[in-house]
Amino acid sequence: MPCKDINYSGQSDWPEIKKWLELRINPDRKVDGIVRDILEKVKTEGDQALIDYTQKFDCPDFKAERLKIKADQLSLAYAEVETEDLEIIEEAIRNIRNFHRKQVEESWWTTEEDGTILGQLVRPVDRVGLYVPGGQGGETPLISSMIMNAVPAQVAGVKQIAVISPPRKDGTLNPYILATAQELGITEIYASGSAWAIGALAYGTQTIAPCDVIAGPGNIFVATAKGQLVGEVGIDMIAGPSEIAILADNTANPVWVAADMLSQAEHDPLAASILITWDPELGPKVKEELRIQAALLPRGEIALKSLNDWGAIVTVSDRNTGINFVNNMAPEHLELAFEEPWSSLGQIKHAGAIFMGHHSPEPIGDYFAGPNHVLPTVGTARFSSALSVETFTKKTSLIYTDQNYISRHGGKIARLARLEGLEAHARSVESRLSDS
Ligand code: NAD
Repeated sequence: MPCKDINYSGQSDWPEIKKWLELRINPDRKVDGIVRDILEKVKTEGDQALIDYTQKFDCPDFKAERLKIKADQLSLAYAEVETEDLEIIEEAIRNIRNFHRKQVEESWWTTEEDGTILGQLVRPVDRVGLYVPGGQGGETPLISSMIMNAVPAQVAGVKQIAVISPPRKDGTLNPYILATAQELGITEIYASGSAWAIGALAYGTQTIAPCDVIAGPGNIFVATAKGQLVGEVGIDMIAGPSEIAILADNTANPVWVAADMLSQAEHDPLAASILITWDPELGPKVKEELRIQAALLPRGEIALKSLNDWGAIVTVSDRNTGINFVNNMAPEHLELAFEEPWSSLGQIKHAGAIFMGHHSPEPIGDYFAGPNHVLPTVGTARFSSALSVETFTKKTSLIYTDQNYISRHGGKIARLARLEGLEAHARSVESRLSDS
């Protein structure tokens, strides 16, 4: 029987549900030590470490010359990609680029009446490394991940972007990864995976230059490596297991609701798919549909495991109680599948992305519409946001003051400095006072 049944009457029921949903985050401490050793080896041995690990895990005959993808391999990739696929990829990139252009923050400064100039300079980081997951040994290339990470970095103005992805058994990368990278204008591509690839992007090797920001999803080894490198490099985020909440009434189509829950559940056995409804008839209909549709899916087994463990039909008395559940959950994806969803939008406080109405299923945002699909998970939408252009920029403050300013404010500043016991700070300002 997929999905558990939950009756939610309001705020007092939330702590129990929260405890249940958080069981999905189960850090594997053994992986910490394994990854620490991998990073150390990459730091000290560089390329040789990448070659050794790749031979051990991905491609037994891997050679050093396969590490950097050459121009002729790049051009050959196009021949293996269907033209129709390529056109769709190009259209998706255009949509995603247009959306992210609206996020660009300009540098600004103000000139005060006394001539003081204060401002903020927005600058891109110099170099970004993008990890693209192997995807079942290179069979299902995660090109949408590459697009969603590359486009905001490019729109931010990052000049150098390197892509890295684990090679297939024959040492090559999937042609869809190579062709999509070229469509994005990226030609610096490396064949390497897992924690050693992340180490190479952070520390640099003989072949790979170090990066300032490392972005892109991956398995537990990739995520743990990124976590351990925080502070030495910037990262996008460490995403937890994915989730969808669907808030629905009797106008929702159970076939569509079930399909949307399955689209989340097929990701991963830890993905959570939760229907919240005040229509008592919708839940049973959706459950029946889940069973029918899951049996027809290639990844049906993963989807059923996910629904069994982390699927739920939550029954509430009315829309407001459903919204209370959603605001507590702060889901990564939220679909509002009820009559007049726009009228409730103002009440939704926390969600990574909101899909409005019956004709806005999550995959539209996953692949094509424009917004980023890298979103905060497991309740972190309470305080964080989707991957964006900002992830690849930093801000520098600008300050200009003149002698007059020092004359008027120097004494106050020196006094504040002495309150903190910092005499040299005080004298730095006072030495300029005596010049006036
Ligand atoms: P991957 O590139 O993340 O992992 C494959 C690499 O891990 C290969 O290099 C492989 O050799 C290495 N590896 C395998 N076993 C290892 C071990 N014992 N020790 C060290 N390294 C090992 O690609 P994948 O396997 O397709 O996994 C993709 C992952 O990314 C999935 O876990 C998926 O859930 C996640 N993902 C998350 C999001 C998100 O936004 N949350 C999006 C896409 C993918």
